[in-house]
Amino acid sequence: MSYRPPIIWRAIAFVAIVCLCFVVLDGWRSWSARSVHLGEMDVAASNLSRAMVQQADDTFKEADTALLGIVERVQHGGTGPAALKRLHDVLVMRQQELPQLVGIFVFDENGIWIVNSTSTPLNRFNNSDREYFVFHRYNVDPGPHIGVPVISRSSGKWVIPVSRRINKPDGSFGGVVVATVDVDFFRSFYDSLQIGKAGAVVLVLNSGVMLVRRPFDVAMIGKDMRKTELYRYYTTKGPAGTAFIKSAQDGVTRLNNYRNLPNYPVFVAAALSKDEILHHWWRDTIWHSAGVLCLVVVVGLFGWHLIRQMELRTAAEAELTRAHASLEQLNRTLEQLALQDSLTQLANRRQFDVTLHNEYSRATRHASPLALIMLDVDCFKQYNDIYGHAAGDECLRTISRLVRDLTAGRPGDLAARYGGEEIAVLLPNTDAARAVVIADNIRHAIRGLDIEHTGNPTGFVTISAGVVARIPIQGSGEPTELIRAADKALYEAKSEGRNRVLAASCSLPSSTVS
Ligand code: GH3
Ligand code: MG
Ligand code: MG
Repeated sequence: MSYRPPIIWRAIAFVAIVCLCFVVLDGWRSWSARSVHLGEMDVAASNLSRAMVQQADDTFKEADTALLGIVERVQHGGTGPAALKRLHDVLVMRQQELPQLVGIFVFDENGIWIVNSTSTPLNRFNNSDREYFVFHRYNVDPGPHIGVPVISRSSGKWVIPVSRRINKPDGSFGGVVVATVDVDFFRSFYDSLQIGKAGAVVLVLNSGVMLVRRPFDVAMIGKDMRKTELYRYYTTKGPAGTAFIKSAQDGVTRLNNYRNLPNYPVFVAAALSKDEILHHWWRDTIWHSAGVLCLVVVVGLFGWHLIRQMELRTAAEAELTRAHASLEQLNRTLEQLALQDSLTQLANRRQFDVTLHNEYSRATRHASPLALIMLDVDCFKQYNDIYGHAAGDECLRTISRLVRDLTAGRPGDLAARYGGEEIAVLLPNTDAARAVVIADNIRHAIRGLDIEHTGNPTGFVTISAGVVARIPIQGSGEPTELIRAADKALYEAKSEGRNRVLAASCSLPSSTVS
């Protein structure tokens, strides 16, 4: 992966964080909406179950109230023919008052019908096998009992029996009075509830026997509910509550709100399908998510484009910086090439001329002495002739290196190749005596190199030097005069036998002759 500067990483992080914020915020909004939705549905299911409790409790209460009066009549009025005639009229009247009832029946202690609410002739069925009859026979509790649903022997309908025990005067079992509540009464009420297509409601005995369910299925009446999740919640988590439960009947997951009847051992549950509850929420969420996705894509693309531009710009800037640096380097090299002699690495004539001019002006301004040494290799033509031009070049390089080293002590001093095998050394702030010492040091050092030169009378490479030093005065003289004077002294040194240093006579008088 190519290197990316921190600014690019920061830009990438910014775009990523913005996109992430969109996603997180929408996710959070969506989740909150889901919670609100479920909360509302919880309230709706709770209201439904309360309505069902009220309706069921009222239905059973009305039937039970009728039974209570009949029990009183039988226990005090007896079951003689006249009493039964009056009782029959009362039963007929009661049943007409209570539309939920299929019939009201009175049985003797053997389970034989002795009176009922129908106006048809009395069929003396025996109901001693019924669950409610067996319950009352062995249970002295005078309270109401809601039995398991049965198919009525008189009408052939599914009914829920609400019954009470009749005691004889001595307290022994004297029979049962039962009011049968039409299952269809509940069914039509439950069908009127708005619970969606996949919603469900149930009415269940506390013992776990199902009384009625919507969606209505006759096969479900009387079914044992004890193994169901709903029943487990009801029996373990209290008489009222809410829970998501997967139905044992149809496998649909629903939000169940269950609660018991205050007066009877029965409970109801109103259950709304989770899929239906969340249907609108899902639709909104999908639309929102699609919108956010589009937004993220747009921001991402825009961000990518900007980052790309930044990358290109940064790369261009880096390229520019590199080009600038290499240009500067090139300039430095060119500058050096322009001012340096390629063979000896000393300053070239051009640099010497400029420096001489500048130093001359400075010395004039400051009235300080400026010295110049002109040195020339002795019998160098012969050296070339004897040892070859390449050896001559090498000899020149060696001498130049030495001169440079010996004059490198002060920053203002300059050693330059003046031409051929002639070297000029410019020494600002230096008087003639000092310049002569320096020139003689150079001469000694070169001789000390012991470079063989059979063409030189000494047998070794030597140099001669002319030295001049002046304090230039404004308006009189110029730099070239300094050169001429040094040249003249050099010429004299040559004339006097070479391998020596001579100071120009116009200098502060000081000369050393080796
Ligand atoms: P003198 O002692 O009088 O100076 O005698 P000389 O032979 O050195 O005479 P001069 O200084 O006039 O001769 C210069 C010679 O230096 C001529 C040339 O062959 C040689 N020379 C000049 N420049 C170079 C160079 O760059 N390389 C080489 N190898 N020789 C050079
Ligand atoms: Mg020479
Ligand atoms: Mg020469």
